[in-house]
Amino acid sequence: MAYTPSLDPALYAVANGRTDQQLMDLMAQQALSPITTSSKLPRVALVVGPSPFTMPRGWEFFLTSPYEGVSYIATVLHNAGYPVKIIDVRYDKHPLESAHRQILESCDVLGLATYEDCYPFLEQLIREVKHSRPRMPIIAGGSLITSVPHVFMRETQIDVAVISEGELTILEVMEAFTQGQWATRLPEIKGIWFRDGQGVVHQTPARGQMPNLNSLPVMNLDLWPQSKDPRGLQKQIIASYSRGCKMDCSFCYRTTPQERVKSPEKLNAELAVYKQKYGIDFVFFVDLTFTAHKPQTIEYLEVIKEHDVRWTCLTRNADVDAEVAKHMGAAGCDIALYGVESLGKAALKSARKGSTENLVEKAMRATWDAGVRYGGLTIVGLPDENDGSLDHMCDWAEENKHITRVKYLSAMPGTTVYRDSLKSGAIKDEVQHLRWLAVEQALERDEYINYNNLSDEKMRGSYKRLYDSYQEGPVMDFQHFPEHFAYYDPEPTTPWRAEFSSAGGVIDPGAVQYRGLYSSSPGVTLTRVNSGEFTVQV
Ligand code: SF4
Repeated sequence: MAYTPSLDPALYAVANGRTDQQLMDLMAQQALSPITTSSKLPRVALVVGPSPFTMPRGWEFFLTSPYEGVSYIATVLHNAGYPVKIIDVRYDKHPLESAHRQILESCDVLGLATYEDCYPFLEQLIREVKHSRPRMPIIAGGSLITSVPHVFMRETQIDVAVISEGELTILEVMEAFTQGQWATRLPEIKGIWFRDGQGVVHQTPARGQMPNLNSLPVMNLDLWPQSKDPRGLQKQIIASYSRGCKMDCSFCYRTTPQERVKSPEKLNAELAVYKQKYGIDFVFFVDLTFTAHKPQTIEYLEVIKEHDVRWTCLTRNADVDAEVAKHMGAAGCDIALYGVESLGKAALKSARKGSTENLVEKAMRATWDAGVRYGGLTIVGLPDENDGSLDHMCDWAEENKHITRVKYLSAMPGTTVYRDSLKSGAIKDEVQHLRWLAVEQALERDEYINYNNLSDEKMRGSYKRLYDSYQEGPVMDFQHFPEHFAYYDPEPTTPWRAEFSSAGGVIDPGAVQYRGLYSSSPGVTLTRVNSGEFTVQV
């Protein structure tokens, strides 16, 4: 019997209708010949909200890099002639006030990028914008709203939710708005939830994903405010050649789950632009499984090799052998990030990870033999983990000192873990859970949901052992640290993390109230906020 994926079936539709094709042709045409920005068209602001999520030392560039999804939406709108402004308040000292002020100053239509850790910010911002400008249309897209559109439509006053891939849908939604035809045309636009004039919420049929990614424009990174920074754009970017993943892990949410690729020629042309126009020297390829299909992977690696950049990627242990690893090394891969998650047989099985300890060992050796660093991504607290399996993973990590990330399992909306948690009562209230996700920092003191009734000592102790097995990240000379940033866990005995082991946004004081939902106070950690000023956070 054919396997039925666990995510919402609507995410498996294909955008292959006549309108979809017309929109793809239009997007591709405008990528080649962008329409001159017109003051007659509505001004669109895209807001990227704050996140308290930290990155380990050497990976901070990821937090401040132009996000790929927002770059594509902004570029598509810009190429269609709309005046577009990205309001990036990720590390603003007062993100809510700053975003609100900029919106009122400079936009007719508000677009919100939704991520798993910014729900409290979004609900407040929507409330304030609708209070100041009740008639301003608010459109939201991205992973969080795709996973829980019902929550946004019920709990906030947004007008349109764009589900899954947004490039075609936003063009259609904006064209209808510009022509004053929302009332009649929104019901015909695929892939949205919308509120009609009477406040009634409607859902249209799924749009689905484009059959390939060749119609996408090259990202216009000049649209990001960072391009106006005296230091210029950072030299590290986020990019990809594909969307989707062939796997269906129980804890993982994919906004675009179906596998789609750009042609190698398109990737080649894009990298040439990023290199020549922006002078990039490092790429984080965020393809969900960079090495999903061996012959295809090798073809893309041959392209990347031509561009003389250092890079990293996310991948699976089961999908890297000696030959692939050799090509990765030859193409400039510094460190490949592998979703290890656990070494426990039962935990891997119930997570549908399709991996084993043996596969992990093989991929690790092949990677090292190719001169590429192996970065282990791990989770503490997957269902069916136990004391013994956690100890085993920690022993392995301490022996190799090759961990890049550890996280407690936090139940991302839309996943099997999330649905099971709602069913079992582990998550009692969706909105409270969404707010709570905004206080996760990827630090040992985070709160967690205890799926296996393990002791707090075991959970936190395992986290700490994995955290202490971190290796340095690939960009240790990062220049674009934001002014308002927090630095955690100085480790004087390890030179590369002597000043701090992780860095990231400061938790919004307004969000601290959402702590305490699942576990008791996580203790006290010494925190350095910006240069030299130490504070103690509880
Ligand atoms: S392999 Fe990775 S990207 Fe794919 S479903 Fe599993 S965790 Fe998600």
